[in-house]
Amino acid sequence: MSAEPIHENAIERAAADGRELIRFDKVTKRFGDHVVLDQLEFSVSAGKHVTLIGPSGSGKTTILRLLMTLTRPDEGTITVDGEYLTHEEKGGRLVPAGERHVREVRKKIGMVFQQFNLFPNMKVLRNVTEAPVHVLGLGKEEAEQRARELLETVGLADHLDKYPSQLSGGQQQRVAIARALAMRPQVLLLDEVTSALDPELVAGVLDVLRDIAHTTDITMLVVTHEMNFARDISDEVLMFNEGKVIESGPPEKIFNDPDHERTREFLGAVL
Ligand code: ADP
Repeated sequence: MSAEPIHENAIERAAADGRELIRFDKVTKRFGDHVVLDQLEFSVSAGKHVTLIGPSGSGKTTILRLLMTLTRPDEGTITVDGEYLTHEEKGGRLVPAGERHVREVRKKIGMVFQQFNLFPNMKVLRNVTEAPVHVLGLGKEEAEQRARELLETVGLADHLDKYPSQLSGGQQQRVAIARALAMRPQVLLLDEVTSALDPELVAGVLDVLRDIAHTTDITMLVVTHEMNFARDISDEVLMFNEGKVIESGPPEKIFNDPDHERTREFLGAVL
């Protein structure tokens, strides 16, 4: 399938003015004795598409989970659009962020997971309107209009009244993409969004994401094993190994002429 070009108004355009939307500053994450992220530093500017590649277990998903506050760092700070996600200022001091602060900052971030995670008891349209109505306080009509537009964009205009279980995995994942975009996040996180799909369904989902990447200014942070997709959409690729970025650069450089032996080995195994 090929998605309609995304509607100009379907996604609030992040001002691509080069401001920093995400910053990890000396972030360390441990599980027990295992250091998963080691003093990690990187940033993503508004409107850019940054892809994280590297061997399984190198900490890529943990980065997205930290941004969704599904887990917290042991050390360091994470900033989203200039505001601390991990901390808040109280009485002139920086203290660990409370729930309310986290909820506010997290509204700027949308995520699509490997396993779709749709609400199984809600029809497609309601899956997409639920958070805009209950989290953003949008009126039902406005939320439905936004949802219809997005579902059309991802090629599902004819499936609004179905339950997730009546859809293919690829269709469910496209609902999940529409659901994330309906919150008009400034940053879209994609966590191996095609790895649970049957091979014949992968292309349809990647086409939708390519369209979004090429026709909007939304900022993306992507974990993927689809190297051709990464090459097509990325402004920058970060190569991870053992919780550190060992190499970064534009896709042409990383895929065609990497500096690091570990990057060459990894690409040799997956390409
Ligand atoms: P990647 O996405 O690069 O495959 P992950 O971020 O998923 O890597 O995982 C990095 C490491 O952290 C792995 O060794 C994994 O086993 C470990 N890990 C992730 N989540 C947990 C957890 N909740 N408890 C213990 N170990 C975890």
